[in-house]
Amino acid sequence: MSKYSSVKGMNDLLPPAIDTWHHLEKIAHETMARYGFAELRTPIVEDTELFTRSVGETSEIVGKEMYDFLDKGGRKIAMRPEGTAPAARAYLEHSLHQKEPLTRWYYLGQMFRYERMKTGRTRQFWQLGVEAYGSGEPAQDAEVMELAVHFIQRLGLADVRLEINSLGDESSRPAYLERVKAHFAPHADQMSDDAKNTLATNPMRLLDSKEEALRPLIAHAPVMLDCLDEGSKAHFAEVQRLLTLLGVQFTINPRLVRGLDYYTRTAFELVATSEVLGTASTVGGGGRYDRLIEQLGGPKVPAVGWAMGLDRLVLLLGDKARAEPPVLFILPVDAPAKDAALKLATQLRHDGLKVDLDPRAGSLKAQFKRAAHVGAKYVMVLGEKELQSQAAKLKQQSDGVEREVSFAELAAVLRA
Ligand code: ATP
Ligand code: MG
Repeated sequence: MSKYSSVKGMNDLLPPAIDTWHHLEKIAHETMARYGFAELRTPIVEDTELFTRSVGETSEIVGKEMYDFLDKGGRKIAMRPEGTAPAARAYLEHSLHQKEPLTRWYYLGQMFRYERMKTGRTRQFWQLGVEAYGSGEPAQDAEVMELAVHFIQRLGLADVRLEINSLGDESSRPAYLERVKAHFAPHADQMSDDAKNTLATNPMRLLDSKEEALRPLIAHAPVMLDCLDEGSKAHFAEVQRLLTLLGVQFTINPRLVRGLDYYTRTAFELVATSEVLGTASTVGGGGRYDRLIEQLGGPKVPAVGWAMGLDRLVLLLGDKARAEPPVLFILPVDAPAKDAALKLATQLRHDGLKVDLDPRAGSLKAQFKRAAHVGAKYVMVLGEKELQSQAAKLKQQSDGVEREVSFAELAAVLRA
């Protein structure tokens, strides 16, 4: 046994659980292609300032949870805690706004947050996310939300609910923040230092607080929907009309706010109703961020997107997805047959079939055990007689039925 273990909160993904990951990734790539979203891969690390500027210093993920360090050149570097800021950085760095009016990207990769761990919450986790730049239209909001819901449905997860809200824009936000402050301020002396700090720096985030003591206050807090400007109100109404048109079910949650600073207008979350995830029941969330690109020094480009936590989806899926077992396991009885078995397996693999054997060979008993372990559909024993006749008995493991098959017709039989 090694004295080393993986860093706290960072998990190895091993077989057979990895089958569920592959299944999820396959559906993700397929779905994104159908909707016309192209994959973007950015580095794991970025300049720390990218996140402080965009996600916001007062947000939890930047203020408390970021893995940041000085590299050997003295640069401030952070392991990405989320994917929207890196995507926006890449969008600007490669001048996409000058090359095309509409850019639709998705990403799939690890994120890092120094969090307290519990079910569904680790320090390295995986996100699938989409970013649509260039359209402020409600149709773009509806499209990405429907995409998220469709992805969940394709995974066969029925118990996930879409909650939506509007957070208004720069014209309506300040007045709302004043009302939130006025609501919470008289109770500041009963609040934790953390909550007091949030009240001073980012009062809207109090609505997202998980502190028990704040519950009753949150329940009666003013909601953004009552303070929306006309533009945001019309936008929100249109988003709802389009979701209905597309047959997407949703509930309006007027207390839904997002943890990051950059959101404007639409905000939404996908919440699992099953108990599996405990308090980490939100599988994904997103919204509109029409000022983010500008905030990072670019032109005014509207954008909307979301991110989903794949680890949480894997927990919900359980071990439903399993890779196909090999169709054939070949068992040689002696040294010459061992060569022939390896050669036959190689040919069949080149033919596109999943074929296995034990390169140690060893006793037939041990080989049969291995064949059963990998769940091979058929087994085939190779010895001198079989090599001479270029044919062997193909035995179906499930019922023990045997039939003689020549090597020449083997691929066709296995494929049938
Ligand atoms: P939560 O409220 O659960 O902390 P969040 O608002 O911090 O979520 P986002 O930043 O919106 O999460 O990230 C989108 C998704 O990424 C989440 O809904 C979740 O599925 C996943 N996620 C976020 N943090 C973690 C984590 N520490 N471990 C596993 N998955 C995570
Ligand atoms: Mg969080």
